[in-house]
Amino acid sequence: MPDRLGHPLEKPLFDQLTLIGVGLIGSSLARVARRQNLAKTIIAIDSSEEARKKIAALQLADHVTGDYADGVKNADCVILCVPVGACGLVAEKISSSLKAGAILSDVGSVKGAIVSQIEPHLPKHVHFVPAHPVAGTEQSGPEAGFATLFNNRWCILTPPEGTDKDAVAKLRLFWEGAGSNVEEMSSSHHDLVLAITSHLPHLIAYNIVGTAADLEAVTESEVIKFSAGGFRDFTRIAASDPTMWRDVFLNNKDAVLEMLGRFTEDLSALQRAIRWGDGEMLFDHFTRTRAIRRSIIEIGQDSATPDFGRQAKDDPVQ
Ligand code: NAP
Repeated sequence: MPDRLGHPLEKPLFDQLTLIGVGLIGSSLARVARRQNLAKTIIAIDSSEEARKKIAALQLADHVTGDYADGVKNADCVILCVPVGACGLVAEKISSSLKAGAILSDVGSVKGAIVSQIEPHLPKHVHFVPAHPVAGTEQSGPEAGFATLFNNRWCILTPPEGTDKDAVAKLRLFWEGAGSNVEEMSSSHHDLVLAITSHLPHLIAYNIVGTAADLEAVTESEVIKFSAGGFRDFTRIAASDPTMWRDVFLNNKDAVLEMLGRFTEDLSALQRAIRWGDGEMLFDHFTRTRAIRRSIIEIGQDSATPDFGRQAKDDPVQ
């Protein structure tokens, strides 16, 4: 995969970057921001004392705190890296402490619901630019992050209409500095695209692993022993963080249900083809899907090894 992380910036983009919720995504941002000189000072806020201890021990930030007002008051850029369902609560806690001209952003996997949660608490003097890095692993917590997580991955910005153009441009530079390719779209379009490319695949994986676990005729040890037949890749995705994914499905309900409806119809068509021995239908379908896989490899968004897009931690703690 091409390395988009070049030399560190000569002058940092932000004087102070505050990250709230320093788990997999937040700690990866802290690491890449430090490595690429994207911010002069990094402040980490986390609600969990255990996480704060780990963040301090890993030296991920210049200052670690559980005090939201103190942690954001001097920030030029604040990025919420908490589960989707916690964004509104956090926005409420920090809104009166944000300084004029600050950029407020997030990394949530759902965009429409986050905008609705945050906007009621948004002071007029703050620029809100929602973002979603399409990059991750099935790990959680501050130790799980790594500086190259966003390298050559997409980051989608969904600025609401009328958002300050300079603020959007600055956040774009930040994500490009973190190695990402950046694209802009509306939050509703984002939620529809991600429902089919990310949310539905996770739901299917959670379901198939659950079904296998409930089987009576096949033992659990056989499921584990013969997992290389395809099941193994599903278990990897189904090991993703339960809090994060609960929040994704609760907050992107309409788009996920729409895609699930289509998926179920198409699955029924395959079921019918198997029942009636329609080999031509099955062959044509599998040929079409194979071409999609090849296109993804051709544009450099994956290697030929199946890993459900979950990048390996190839760049240990910086
Ligand atoms: P994570 O590793 O679990 O980290 C989340 C951190 O936020 C944890 O340290 C958590 O503490 C803390 N936290 C929770 N509620 C908080 C609050 N109210 N105030 C301050 N800190 C709080 O999760 P993650 O994978 O980094 O995901 C974070 C966000 O990134 C989510 O919105 C997710 O949708 C998005 N995202 C994730 C991926 C992925 O693959 N993981 C990819 C793209 C985007 P506790 O552990 O004590 O709860």
